[in-house]
Amino acid sequence: MDSILPWQQQIWQGLQRRIEQQRMPHALLLHGPKGTGKKSLSLALAKSLLCEQRTKSGEGCGHCNSCRLFVAHTHTDLHLLEPEEGKSVLAVDQVRGMVEKFSYTPQIANRKVAIINPAETMNSSAANSLLKTLEEPSGEAVLMLISHAPASLLPTIRSRCQQLAFPQPSRTEALAWLGGQLDDKSMADTILGMAEGAPLRALALSGEGQQAHYQQMAEELVELLQGRANPIRVAYRWNSKKLDPTTTLRWLQQWVTTIIKQQFSNDPATTEPVSSLFRLLQRVDRKRFFLFSDRLNQAIRLSTTPVNKELLFEGLLLEWIRLAGDPLDASSFR
Ligand SMILES: [Zn+2]
Repeated sequence: MDSILPWQQQIWQGLQRRIEQQRMPHALLLHGPKGTGKKSLSLALAKSLLCEQRTKSGEGCGHCNSCRLFVAHTHTDLHLLEPEEGKSVLAVDQVRGMVEKFSYTPQIANRKVAIINPAETMNSSAANSLLKTLEEPSGEAVLMLISHAPASLLPTIRSRCQQLAFPQPSRTEALAWLGGQLDDKSMADTILGMAEGAPLRALALSGEGQQAHYQQMAEELVELLQGRANPIRVAYRWNSKKLDPTTTLRWLQQWVTTIIKQQFSNDPATTEPVSSLFRLLQRVDRKRFFLFSDRLNQAIRLSTTPVNKELLFEGLLLEWIRLAGDPLDASSFR
């Protein structure tokens, strides 16, 4: 996807003015919530910067030599750096390799473009190897760093980039766009909720597998509280390669937050799975809930690191079971 999303029009026009006035910065930091279209805009900008005859609105024309190579993912002046399949961090070698290639003169277009996504997954050696290129790239070049967590970037990296903040679109904007992308428009509301309001994340979650996981998770959490499910098996299922551990934990966090709010408001939910979970947990001491919530936030932070996710889930699920009653002996489940 490399189109300009409705809520990015203003950002796009600002960038186009800079290209026209030849004031395009060498280094940009695109930051904002995950799933709101930073990568799709960075690709649209890359296509535009490499194109030989941009359209009136500044987009890549789609048929020049550069655009054709861009679409075929074989443009030698474009470097897209992302963690390799199955990895959660960018390797130092990937960044060093890009830095080296970035020092050559462009081969096809008038400039070189690199996109680093997400920039916060570079360790300090990788980030340091990028500093010189960020400061003074050789020749015409634009480097785009994408970040969902700009505060965790090295200050030396942040200070060398022109920052572009991406807002989360309004619920109305997000629903209108999402409705147009889904085969079944009636699912837009549920899926946007699953994605905490981030429309591109919602679209990624719209596959049947994700919705089925969401439903099954809710059932498993109820069954765990009733002593009818095995936390070891549930943790094993949650650790499937097809599922994103952070998303799984964020869904649990959404439910826990809703239950805590309801305990305070004394206004039980009518929607599942929250109403079933609330019934089973309504007598739980708030302090224990807050402790669980803290532990869950910690697990969310760890879920983007290389820790063993299955063990992370197991520990958390055993604490989840303890919320419902007396501490259970984990060995009885084996
Ligand atoms: Zn073109």
